[in-house]
Amino acid sequence: MTLREVLQDAARKGYAVGAFNANNLEYVQGIVDAAEAEAAPVIVQASPGAIAYMGLAYIAAVGQVAARANVPVVIHLDHGLDIAVVERCLREGFTSVMYDGSALGFEENVAVTARVVALARSAGASAEGELGRVPAADREWTAAELERLMTDPEQAAEFVARTGVDALAVAVGSVHRMRRQAQQIDVERVSRLRRATGVPLVLHGSSGVTDDSLVAAVKAGVAKVNIATALNLAFTGALSQAVRSHPDEIDPRKLLGPAREAVARAAAAKMRLLGCSGRAGGRAGGVAG
Ligand SMILES: [Zn+2]
Repeated sequence: MTLREVLQDAARKGYAVGAFNANNLEYVQGIVDAAEAEAAPVIVQASPGAIAYMGLAYIAAVGQVAARANVPVVIHLDHGLDIAVVERCLREGFTSVMYDGSALGFEENVAVTARVVALARSAGASAEGELGRVPAADREWTAAELERLMTDPEQAAEFVARTGVDALAVAVGSVHRMRRQAQQIDVERVSRLRRATGVPLVLHGSSGVTDDSLVAAVKAGVAKVNIATALNLAFTGALSQAVRSHPDEIDPRKLLGPAREAVARAAAAKMRLLGCSGRAGGRAGGVAG
């Protein structure tokens, strides 16, 4: 499935699809297990860092297996920063790519993103762009600082019209890699961005956003929610716990198994929150619960 197909239904019906960052095989399995259990469409995404760690051929092959699940699965490149990586992902069968030109000037971001959109189209895939800046939690950010980084609706409309992106990542108050849920989204801005652009919006840095604010952002027009840190906390927390509880265990399956289950539980909880549980349509196996 392409991102465009999956997000169209979400945008029309007012829910969001979870886009979960995978770092290894256990993540992919946990994410897909959760999607099947929740009968939810799902986006499995890999960052350039995850691709460097796993190897593109491995993650693409695992993605092909994931795509055989009985729910819609999108295989997506998260935060593509260079065209060569975008091209390699498309060749390897990714059904969606993000190009993150948020650090570039507006004109250059438009130019490179438009090129990525053309590449994605010719591969039968979708493309996500980014405008505005979602910073990382390497320090504290004041509300005023975050506001200055936020996406301007008028500029976003021009960006979408000139690039043809299928979805737009926007800066609306979230911060990447936060370990606790403390941020509030500028929901009014989400509504204005949705009206101005007409495309489904993408929220990065969702792990640091309160549940209430996340739900409000989805209602206002966010249709793809990226989730990385919440899964990392679940995975490494369960792994550490397993190692502490069984210090003499040398079977990696006994240690990684609980971590995989923790990823599945964390992903399923986000799917319910985003309203995508039970939305898999005809491809679901009827295993929701
Ligand atoms: Zn991001």
